[in-house]
Amino acid sequence: MPAHVMELPRVVVVGREVAGKIGGTLQDLELGNTGIVLSGANVKQLLAWRLEPSLRESGLKFSWQVVGESSFAEAERIALLAREEKADFLIGAGGGRSIDIAKLASFNCKIPFVSVPTSASHDGISSPFCSVRGLDRPYSIVAKPPIAIIADTDLISKAPHKLLVSGCGDLLSKKTAVKDWELSYVKTGEYFGRYSANLALLSANMILEDAEIISSITDEGISVVVEALISSGVAAGIAGSSRPCSGSEHLFSHAMDIVAPGKGLHGEKCGMGTIMMARLHGLDYGEIRKTLKIIGSPVRASEIGASSDEIVKALVLARSIRKERYTILEEAKLTEESARELALDVGVI
Ligand SMILES: [Zn+2]
Repeated sequence: MPAHVMELPRVVVVGREVAGKIGGTLQDLELGNTGIVLSGANVKQLLAWRLEPSLRESGLKFSWQVVGESSFAEAERIALLAREEKADFLIGAGGGRSIDIAKLASFNCKIPFVSVPTSASHDGISSPFCSVRGLDRPYSIVAKPPIAIIADTDLISKAPHKLLVSGCGDLLSKKTAVKDWELSYVKTGEYFGRYSANLALLSANMILEDAEIISSITDEGISVVVEALISSGVAAGIAGSSRPCSGSEHLFSHAMDIVAPGKGLHGEKCGMGTIMMARLHGLDYGEIRKTLKIIGSPVRASEIGASSDEIVKALVLARSIRKERYTILEEAKLTEESARELALDVGVI
């Protein structure tokens, strides 16, 4: 068997107001004294007063960089700056973009990065994968996982509820992602890691079991989603690929990004995709649909402002998004007619 590399975060801190104790966490990690904080302008306003006193008290030197879109150019700019300032670590704070830039820049200049998510809308907060603009493909690329994740539930609870709901869609999608991975193992002989597959499934099952708690918008519900997202990202780190977290339902979501850009959040589209792909896999799609409804995640195209034709187009296109990734779409070979039938059958259109 070839060697299998697992890359994992060293510290995960989840709880109320933990962002305000970031200095102590960094000191314990002994990463060095100099860092760069990356965030958007709004997040800087939200976070500066929480992070800065703690960083200073711990004797850490830092500069704050407001970052633009997640692109190779922006990551390269930060990597250059990190070399100039002799930074020992980067901190990516925000919903996704800043974490992605920190991920890529830290990968480029071989220093660790710390993830400080301000919302819980996808598993990129802990996974080694990042979405970058300007690629010839719409899916994410592999970099490094964060060395630490500091998930402040107080901060995350202040983010729009829609983002947390979207995180649940991303989590439920592990149901079909793992099925696709298993299918590929059988059909193509691709490596399949049972441990990481089970860990990803555990994250999805947490959402199925705790849907009512999550919909109540309490601290407990937020913690369930945050912890499940972190474990799901870690599952990808263990697998060494995004396989346990991203299957045919993600291909549908990526296809929607092309067919109907700007309509629906990543996790919302993945959630809807999961209903349809679960039907193709012969899984209990009704249970997934019901759970999404309880949580308040869209189950119909109209709820994200998409048309029936857009859903059908995306379903047909999904198969060609990532040719090397074998999924149920290879078996279903959806045509416009069968795609429409599928979407109608499960009530997405
Ligand atoms: Zn995802």
